[in-house]
Amino acid sequence: MKKAIYPGSFDPVTLGHLDIIERSAKLVDHLIVGVLNNKAKTPLFSVDERVNMLKEVTKHIPNVEVLSFSGLLVEFAKEHEVNAIIRGLRAVTDFEYELAMSQTNKVAAPSIDTVFLNTSLEYAYLSSSIVKEMAMYNGDISKFVPEYVIDKVNEKYNASNN
Ligand code: ADP
Repeated sequence: MKKAIYPGSFDPVTLGHLDIIERSAKLVDHLIVGVLNNKAKTPLFSVDERVNMLKEVTKHIPNVEVLSFSGLLVEFAKEHEVNAIIRGLRAVTDFEYELAMSQTNKVAAPSIDTVFLNTSLEYAYLSSSIVKEMAMYNGDISKFVPEYVIDKVNEKYNASNN
């Protein structure tokens, strides 16, 4: 059974992330979406909120499981006996960091390879940060995030404006 993990912050999940999830779920038998609980960052959404949003927007894909993790990705990957780590590449700006990360992970866990999926052109510019910036200034984010996520993001900013 081929198993992979797609890790990230997903704060919040965007259509770019969902595209990578849908495409990588076709390449493996089981895909774990790993939501990083990073204590060093203050995310807009708690890890439980991010996990719940991802579960909701991936419920149409039967071989996807959404889990949170903290600490080292390779440890989480080893625990779940995955064969591969999936990462999305948008532009050359992603490349240098992603390459260093994948090489580090390969040293730490030689049996696990990192597989890069290129972004679909329509989402090449899209990031969670851009979505948050748009929402902060009341911009329309409906072309950037799954429908279920639109209100969740807007609620955060409306609540903080009150
Ligand atoms: P991280 O904090 O680990 O970079 P993100 O949640 O920002 O987490 O992204 C998770 C993964 O998804 C990364 O590999 C990132 O390059 C990829 N990704 C993010 N946005 C897109 C997009 N629009 N198209 C393709 N891949 C993307």
